[in-house]
Amino acid sequence: MQTASLSPYFIDRLSHVREDNVWIQTQLHAASTRLIAVYQSSVLCNNHDPRSPCFVSYSQASAPTDTSIFLGQVDGIAYFTLSIQTSAAAEQLCNAQQATFQDYAVSALMLESKYHELLSLACFTSYWDSRNHYCGSCASETKICNAGHMRVCTSTSCAQRYFPSMDPAIIVLIEYEDRCLLGRQAHWPESMYSTLAGFVEPGETIEAAVAREVNEEAGIQVEDIRYHSSQAWLFPNSLMLGFNAKATSTDLQLDANELEAAAWFTRDQIRAKPQMLPNQKSISYALIQDWLHR
Ligand SMILES: [Zn+2]
Repeated sequence: MQTASLSPYFIDRLSHVREDNVWIQTQLHAASTRLIAVYQSSVLCNNHDPRSPCFVSYSQASAPTDTSIFLGQVDGIAYFTLSIQTSAAAEQLCNAQQATFQDYAVSALMLESKYHELLSLACFTSYWDSRNHYCGSCASETKICNAGHMRVCTSTSCAQRYFPSMDPAIIVLIEYEDRCLLGRQAHWPESMYSTLAGFVEPGETIEAAVAREVNEEAGIQVEDIRYHSSQAWLFPNSLMLGFNAKATSTDLQLDANELEAAAWFTRDQIRAKPQMLPNQKSISYALIQDWLHR
């Protein structure tokens, strides 16, 4: 089975030490520790090599580190986020490091694969943290805990705790005899087709979400729904759960709000036009490649 390569296992997250603030602070100040600067949804990348992130040390940090989130260790080196709040601080850091902030959703597909989990985690946790400074229950301020992996309401009568969470979404390759169903959304690159996808709704199983999304978007019924693989797609916070399924018919009735077009393709048709496929690091590409080679 071919697996999506955007999120290979890479980080030792050391979740059991997040509550040990002495250890965390020692790591944060260590000379070998690397900070990943995040500004809005962008990460700092080297000017001389845009495929690699530009890490900074604690002494090079041009912004407060009291909101830095511990991401984990890679090869014994600790990684934290460095949240940049203002355009002036961002510009200062870029000039000092000879680096540029790049939108992560765009740059993720061209960064070296070994950085994906680390940078996804940095962007995701920074995004989550920036949107949870106030309690959703009582509107009091929250404070950072567990090295950034929890925020707690500062009202002692409330003390609501908040944790980072991801939105589950399904993505499915549907086949009927020797053809598979691919569709495209209007805003995608011209002529690109991909597998169907959608978010899981509350109270729904992921298998039911597959059947519902396919029926809503393409107007067909599916059966024999089988799990394939998953991929964190943190733009900003999705977990893509990949499936295979078989259609019971081929008559499509498209939801124009979801799909601009969809069609059944044979393997030869896809092989003859590889430029129609989505990015090679996407789970959709992995699903299609597995089907092509079956
Ligand atoms: Zn509260």
